[in-house]
Amino acid sequence: MIESVPVDVGLVHEGERIRKQEMQLELGGPGVSAKWELVRVVPPEAVEDGRVRIAGPDIRDLAEGGKYPLGILVEIAGPALEEDFEGVIERRIHEYSNYVEGLMHLNQRYDIWVRLSKKAYRAGFDSFEYLGRVLLHLFKNELPIIEAMQVTFYTDPVEVEARLPEALARYEARDARARGLADEEVETFYGCALCQSFAPRHICVITPERYANCGAISWFDGRAAARMDPKGPIFALEKGDCLDPVHGEFAGVNASAKERSMGEIDRVWLYSAFGYPHTSCGCFEGIAFYIPEVEGFGIVHRGFRDATVNGLAFSTMADSTAGGRQVDGFHGVSLEYLKSRKFLQADGGWDRVVWMPSEILERVRPFIPEGAADRIATENDVHSVDELQGFLREHDHPVLARWATEPAGTQVATVANLPLEVGGYRIILKNARIYADRVIILREEERR
Ligand code: SF4
Repeated sequence: MIESVPVDVGLVHEGERIRKQEMQLELGGPGVSAKWELVRVVPPEAVEDGRVRIAGPDIRDLAEGGKYPLGILVEIAGPALEEDFEGVIERRIHEYSNYVEGLMHLNQRYDIWVRLSKKAYRAGFDSFEYLGRVLLHLFKNELPIIEAMQVTFYTDPVEVEARLPEALARYEARDARARGLADEEVETFYGCALCQSFAPRHICVITPERYANCGAISWFDGRAAARMDPKGPIFALEKGDCLDPVHGEFAGVNASAKERSMGEIDRVWLYSAFGYPHTSCGCFEGIAFYIPEVEGFGIVHRGFRDATVNGLAFSTMADSTAGGRQVDGFHGVSLEYLKSRKFLQADGGWDRVVWMPSEILERVRPFIPEGAADRIATENDVHSVDELQGFLREHDHPVLARWATEPAGTQVATVANLPLEVGGYRIILKNARIYADRVIILREEERR
């Protein structure tokens, strides 16, 4: 318990989910366009240590059940702090907010999504002041490098919107720094176990060319974090021998995944969505999803609210992708990874991408091979897999070369993991391709 904060605060509350019916209110999230969180290292004279400021209506002034904009600005000072630390310290907002009983914080940067439960509100958690005190307490205790800190919560919609460009510019400056460095040029990757409270077997492997799934931590951020807090959730990972340069398999990554997943995951292919794909916790910015009917990938980001070309929305596919599992064909990705030379390298890279929302396509267009963008369909071109097939033919998409390898008239269905119960054993087929003359699906009651 932190003094005067009316609910419990501790590690035990991490991973708590707050359903819609249980929420007092929501801040940020998919229904709100402007939201962000930002940490800035500033000179000591610019910080009033311990100050919590609320610019706009406080929690108690906001109607129950509503959705509101939110900006969280954390300003920190200390002689050993560097601008390089901002990104990783910022990611701790997610972790520490989730220590609060009855408060759920999801995602990062420009995509935050916070829910407060009715129960916490009834217990007296009716002001951002309390969240500010929690952040002040935890940041200063866990990271003594921070000597002075102040927190501002922006809830006035005009201010949240007006300050968004500055936040976006800071994120871009961090990301741009990491571009240009190749995985082959470094001996050390970084691992992050921050999301194990939601996905206990998951670690992100952060390399120069494979940005963390949440899009909040670059290789440089990982390096800064491991230096700043060597016992923290972000750690150095010797990459070891390269076992397969195309799939991106490294002995050191395999060993670390095995150790940290308690033996569950023992191989990781960093540049593939099949076989031994990188696991996905739940914070991924986007999903690369396999569309078996066209042998290609769709990509969808969290902000896309409509159904994708396969008829499924981001939220539906997120359930199949999350949880720290290796799921063939449902692959959590950051938007920065889309700009990488290594993006799904083993699966064909951009020659394999067939559909994505126009907003994201335009954002990554300068980073993808010339001509590729014009052959990718968006929500403005097609609305079904049938239409997509026509579009790909019309645009002579490179994925067409793969169609010839399928037997004529094949009907394709995909199941991420296909469990078979045989003689008391459970056999799970992963990445298997099965051809059958006939498939019979019976309801359980019809079998009896
Ligand atoms: S998504 Fe990955 S890098 Fe980002 S906080 Fe979670 S574990 Fe760390």
